[in-house]
Amino acid sequence: MRREFSKYNIFSLLRGAANNNSHWAEAWEKMEPKHEYDVVVIGGGGHGLSTAYYLAKEHNIHNVAVLEKGGIGLGSVGRNTTIVRSNYGQDGNTQFYELSMKLWEKLDADLNYNVMFSQRGVCNLVHSPAELDIAARRGNAMRLNGIDAVLLQNSDLRRMFPLLDFSLNARFPIYGGLFQPRGGTARHDAVAWGYARKASQLGVDICEHCEVLDFIWNDNKSGVIGVETTKGKVYAKKIALCMAGNVSTLTNKAGLRLPIESHILQAFVTESIKPKIHHVITYAAGHVYISQSDKGGLVFGGDLDKYNSYAQRGNFPVWEQVCQSILTMIPSISRVKLLRNWGGVMDMSMDGSPIISTTDVKGLYLNTGWCYGGFKAIPGSGFCFAHTIAKNEPHPQNAQHTLQRFMKGALIDEEGTGPFPKMH
Ligand SMILES: Cc1cc2nc3c(=O)[nH]c(=O)nc-3n(C[C@H](O)[C@H](O)[C@H](O)COP(=O)(O)OP(=O)(O)OC[C@H]3O[C@@H](n4cnc5c(N)ncnc54)[C@H](O)[C@@H]3O)c2cc1C
Repeated sequence: MRREFSKYNIFSLLRGAANNNSHWAEAWEKMEPKHEYDVVVIGGGGHGLSTAYYLAKEHNIHNVAVLEKGGIGLGSVGRNTTIVRSNYGQDGNTQFYELSMKLWEKLDADLNYNVMFSQRGVCNLVHSPAELDIAARRGNAMRLNGIDAVLLQNSDLRRMFPLLDFSLNARFPIYGGLFQPRGGTARHDAVAWGYARKASQLGVDICEHCEVLDFIWNDNKSGVIGVETTKGKVYAKKIALCMAGNVSTLTNKAGLRLPIESHILQAFVTESIKPKIHHVITYAAGHVYISQSDKGGLVFGGDLDKYNSYAQRGNFPVWEQVCQSILTMIPSISRVKLLRNWGGVMDMSMDGSPIISTTDVKGLYLNTGWCYGGFKAIPGSGFCFAHTIAKNEPHPQNAQHTLQRFMKGALIDEEGTGPFPKMH
């Protein structure tokens, strides 16, 4: 059942200007769960909402519920630093993230929602001649797959990023960079709200404050037929897990031991300053990255807190390490005041690549393992996961991201760091 929502356009904006914005209805309909659905999606983050949207849009499956234990957008989808890129070098990842990038490029129009996707470019700095060779290899892999990549010399970098410390006695001297001009940032909560609104419009029930506690099994315990929630039992032909860092709390109850660990990642924002950083910069040697938001705040982050946790907060030693590293890269911002900091739970997989998969439990589908990079993947992940749920087989673009790759040893180790989730 489709729901009628007024469209966002220039006329509705003008009407809002004239009537003190009193005519806006809620962006999506708040629903209580029904007794039964074709598909229940657990988790109302970016991946759950986009999966529900593409189930309805691409596969005509509208009898879908998204069950979210809190409010929409309060998980990692609203806590990340919003970097979008498709600069991957490993077969499987390269094509998957580029599919996602292409969906980003038309997302505003597709959702009728301004997700503020800004293709300002993402640059990975390199710190040694050997690393420059590796960057060139990755750039070539990208270009062979039709993805934009530019290898930058220091002369280019000085023009584009005048604030960086280019001195030869810097802690990590800069030798060049790999730039993806189509990369950039988007507005994180607009992505969640936009997908929620459009999915709701297509008939999906968005049920907030409805925590899933356990599965309901069929008679011979070979498959799941529903879930126990804080709002009662909800039955479904198919159950899709999109719980990011919390996924193992439920998969344990289904007897599935996943190749992932939950870790904390923190983000930081400073007071607003004039526009000074016009692209996204990553500084791998110091494990940090930075961009400047449209409001002027410097948005940056670093490495994991490196202990397993489901808490959405981190610890002080990482603040110190991240701030020190940012200052080795851009010493001139040492007087800018830090305003806010927060943490989110990351679903770190054993090879650093995601899992979009059927499982051995009949009726149960799995979407997890997004590590640091799940925000940029939201459109591609929802698109491919919806296909996997609807057809019981992977989409060609996520064929290599199944759970079975860990049994076959066909890992996609993008960073080359081995089976250590906290290293990816
Ligand atoms: C600080 C930080 C910076 C990041 N920076 C980037 C970046 O720059 N670029 C990038 O691509 N990625 C980034 N990421 C990663 C990205 O945010 C995540 O990979 C992605 O958001 C995870 O998917 P999601 O949006 O579906 O997760 P979430 O928004 O966490 O959604 C999962 C939902 O499941 C719900 N849930 C959990 N358990 C239950 C239950 N039992 N019942 C019902 N609901 C449940 C949760 O409440 C939550 O809303 C960053 C993450 C963090 C924390």
